[in-house]
Formats: sequence, structure tokens, C-alpha cells
Amino acid sequence: MVEKKRNDNCAICGGELHDALVTTVEDGVAEGEFVIVENVPTQECRKCGEQWFDIDTMRKLEAIVKSKIVVVKKIEVPVCDFAAIAA
Ligand SMILES: [Zn+2]
Repeated sequence: MVEKKRNDNCAICGGELHDALVTTVEDGVAEGEFVIVENVPTQECRKCGEQWFDIDTMRKLEAIVKSKIVVVKKIEVPVCDFAAIAA
């Protein structure tokens, strides 16, 4: 996730940005914990797909992850070990 001012072109490839709502995976407060946040407003690059978040959105994301006051559901997530097949 990268912080970015609105209405710029993509700083990586120069592509056009468009508004989108995305799902992000954030590191939680506890070790090994993570929090999935849906419907996060972003500007997404049409060319390379990089997502740019403004400072206000990033602050709100941080608050959501810290407080978890708006947990709407919990899901089970499979965890795989790459090393188990990467011989
Ligand atoms: Zn781009």
C-alpha cells in the first residue's frame, strides 16, 4: 500500500488512475494477526494495477485495525507453507 495525493498519474508507470473500492489485508496489532478491510477507497492504476491510498484513508485504516470496532464478519483462511513444495 502506497500513500499518494489524489489526481496524479501512477508514480510507478505513469498510467491513468481511476477511483475504486478494494479489499486490503492489514497487519494486526498482535504478532501474526491480520485484518481484512473491505470497501477501501483507492486510486488504482489502469496500466499496472498499483493502488494508491490518500493519507486520510490510511489513517482511517489504521484506526479500524487498532480498534476493530467495525468487524462485520470473521472468516477461516487456509495457511500454506511455500517451503513444503519448493524443494
Ligand atoms: Zn501504474
